[in-house]
Amino acid sequence: MLSRRAVLAAGLCCPGAGHAKEAARADDRFRAFIAALRPDAAARGVSPQTFDAAFRGIVAPDAAVLARTRRQSEFVRPVWDYLVGAASAGRITRGRARAAALAQTIQAIEGRYAVPGPVILAIWGVESDFGASAGDVPTIRALATLAEAGHRGTLFRDELLAALTILQRGDVAPERMSGSWAGAMGQVQFLPSTYLAHAVDFDGDGHRDIWTSAPDSLASIAAYLKDLGWDPALSWGYEVRLPEGFDLARYTGDLASFSERGVRRTDGGSLPTRGRASLFLPGGRTAPAFLITGNFEVIRGYNTSDSYALAVGHLADRLGGGPPLATSWPTASGLDGPGLRKLQAGLASAGFYDGPTDGRAGPKLREAVRRYQISAGLPADGYATSGLLAHVEGRPAPKP
Ligand code: CA
Repeated sequence: MLSRRAVLAAGLCCPGAGHAKEAARADDRFRAFIAALRPDAAARGVSPQTFDAAFRGIVAPDAAVLARTRRQSEFVRPVWDYLVGAASAGRITRGRARAAALAQTIQAIEGRYAVPGPVILAIWGVESDFGASAGDVPTIRALATLAEAGHRGTLFRDELLAALTILQRGDVAPERMSGSWAGAMGQVQFLPSTYLAHAVDFDGDGHRDIWTSAPDSLASIAAYLKDLGWDPALSWGYEVRLPEGFDLARYTGDLASFSERGVRRTDGGSLPTRGRASLFLPGGRTAPAFLITGNFEVIRGYNTSDSYALAVGHLADRLGGGPPLATSWPTASGLDGPGLRKLQAGLASAGFYDGPTDGRAGPKLREAVRRYQISAGLPADGYATSGLLAHVEGRPAPKP
């Protein structure tokens, strides 16, 4: 059979045939990739029937998914920009309404997993706006596209095999398995491997349904946080006010020691007398200051971003009836992705940083910035600015 595609592929006609030929080759590679997956899927117990049903009608990569991998922004939004959107007034209102409607379910989930309802709700809110926007990209095709392209090594190939395992277990029909372009599924945005390890059937219908069941979604979030090590005795953290002359170089310690040093919660509540915390100044010295506990790191286990963890923590506080932040955010922003990469390189060559040069802020870079600031006699707020980059690179500080 000589199809139109084959004619194009052979370069037998038409202007632009070279492009079509390349597209056809890409489709051939994609189909060969799927065929080569079959024995690995079988080894995991995926039947030929499940395999064929999963890939029915999938004959070419998803161009929109590939476009998204190329569009990953270099620009890093300031923490507060993300926070304002993630914990907007509308989302707080919607979340409180959902909390009221699901009060009994949430109480039962809290009882079983010992994770606070507002934290579970906050993650549900940030991931899918409480189930309203779970994403409608077909998961199998998205994962196959990313896997065949070799995006992030073999990660997506492994996730694709995990997704096939989920289909084999009958938790969801292939056409209902959907989510984000990057393979995160349903209302809780679990990758398939996370689903296999942590998702639960809370409503008792025999299926772990993170696509349409609110009880399963909420309980799956709670189970994951519990498995990541959520400490029920502690909050995620607190917005705090630092006393005049507070020594920023001593930024970790017992919560009790922070109390002794004059650190106070901005909402007037008292700090716990047990547990450890560290000071987090995501906008520098003059911006909101937080004491964060190990539970902040647990939230980062769900999604490894400071902005995400802070947004979830703050949204949880608001859903639980807490006030808005007491301190204003600065107008000057921190470094963007390329700036952070330069800073990582500079701190690495000065011997303060041994992490990846990936342009991402996080605990490791913050720690390096603080150690640099301490050694240079600067206030140790751990905040990466263009002024700090200039200091590290031995240049005069840029004008604001
Ligand atoms: Ca269920």
